[in-house]
Order: sequence, then C-alpha cells, then structure tokens
Amino acid sequence: MNLQPITDLQRLCIHTITVKPWNIGEIAANFSSAGVKGITVWRDTLAGRDIRQTGRMLRDHGLSIVSLCRGGFFPSADRARRRAAIDDNRKAIEEAHELGTDLIVLVCGADPSQSLEDSRKQIHDGIASVLPDAESAGVRLAIEPLHPMFADTRSAINTLAQANDLAEILESPSAGVAVDVYHLWWDPDLEKEIKRSGKNGKLFAYHVSDWKSPTVDMLNDRGLMGEGCIPLKKIRSWVEDSGFSGFIEVEIFSDIYWSRDQHSFLQDIVSSYKKYV
Ligand code: ZN
Repeated sequence: MNLQPITDLQRLCIHTITVKPWNIGEIAANFSSAGVKGITVWRDTLAGRDIRQTGRMLRDHGLSIVSLCRGGFFPSADRARRRAAIDDNRKAIEEAHELGTDLIVLVCGADPSQSLEDSRKQIHDGIASVLPDAESAGVRLAIEPLHPMFADTRSAINTLAQANDLAEILESPSAGVAVDVYHLWWDPDLEKEIKRSGKNGKLFAYHVSDWKSPTVDMLNDRGLMGEGCIPLKKIRSWVEDSGFSGFIEVEIFSDIYWSRDQHSFLQDIVSSYKKYV
C-alpha cells in the first residue's frame, strides 16, 4: 500500500447535507474559516436562491464547487413519472451549469413495484436521454452505486461493477462513476472495480464516511471517519493507485450529528479527515 498521509485540507470537500442545520451562507462562511476547500451542494440548499449568485458567493469564500447532488431517480412503472424524472434531471444539469460545477452525482432510483431488471433498463434509458444535454452543458454525470439495502426504492445499481458496466455502455466521456465507501466497502471486487474505473477515466468522485457497528438507522446513522469498520486508508490507496487525485468528499447523514453543535462537529470532521482517511 503506497499511501501519502494527509497533511493539509487541500482535498477536503464536505457535502452541504453533512451539516444540514446550516443554510448555504452559513456553510460557506464556516467552511472557509475552517480551511475546507471544496463543497458539494445538495439541491435543497438552493431552493429560492439565485443559483449563479450562490455559485459566486461560494467561490468568493475560496470554495471549489465539486459537484451538485443529486440527479437520478429515473425508474418508475409509471410512464409520466419517468418523463418527469428526465425533466428534473435536465433541470439539475441547468442548475449545475449555473452554479458553476461540472459534475452531478446520480442516485439512480428503483421502483419496488417492478423488477430490478426493468428499473436498470429505465436507468440506462434515462441517463442516455439526458447525456446530450449534459455534454453540451459541459457537465459530467457520476453514477453512484448504492448499498443493496437501498435496492427497493433508491437504486437498482448496487455494485461498482454494475456502475462501471453502465458507464461503459453509455460511451460518453461525460458518463462515469462515484465511489462512496459507505455503499461499497463490503464488496470483494472493490479493488478490481476501482482500478477498472480509473483505467477507463471513469472515476469522477470519491465519498467518505464510516459504517457504525451496530448501525441503528439505514439512512441516517452514518459514522464519522474512524468511528466504524470501513478500511478507509486501504480504499483510498486503491482510489489513488487508479489515478484519482480529486477531492475527498465527506458525506454523512446522521440524526446524531445533525443534533449536535455544528461548529464542534466541523472541527471533528477536519480532525478525523486528517487522522483516518
Ligand atoms: Zn455518496
């Protein structure tokens, strides 16, 4: 394992949802004073705001806008809903362009009233129909595989192998994958598939958190790095060996952390990033 220790915050990005109690103005000011360099913006934080102006405000705070979260949710047994999803993804591409980021993370979706195969076909078709818009806006789409516990409603793409297959079939430089350790740490093929993503230039994003044992809530009980059983340094070594040198994004959904003082939580994120990632 050939891994450089993390000595500064140049590659630290934090998702807005990680510090959900703050609005985006507070987030910008607090990230900036903590020395955080990157931000991934969840679309709910943009509601009712001028998006271009928000992009400028973030950059004025010295933040790189790493990605917009999230597009996707393509599958539905209902045709009108599938169409609405495509419209919403086109809107996300416009928002990314206005915000000034070149990346959207896709949570691909699933509909439990139909087969996973049908959902996967609709995911392929949905991405294929918005890819030309993404290409002309200069926006890339990162397919994020989700842990199989979310295969019912959130994503029928559950392994990095499936995401790599899909990104390859789509045959566009704008289609790639996001590796999120929370969803993928258990996969015996993870090292192999990370190398495959990297070799093909498809590894667009890297998300970190930790898997607490026990995990008491499927969605909102993610751990701070170092708090659980994910081999973070080992996975980062695979990611970096594959050629990825982009931001390392802290994405934590946690009822526990959201109820804490966010300033001290942010300090804990910074210290656990340096120590455990
Ligand atoms: Zn993620």
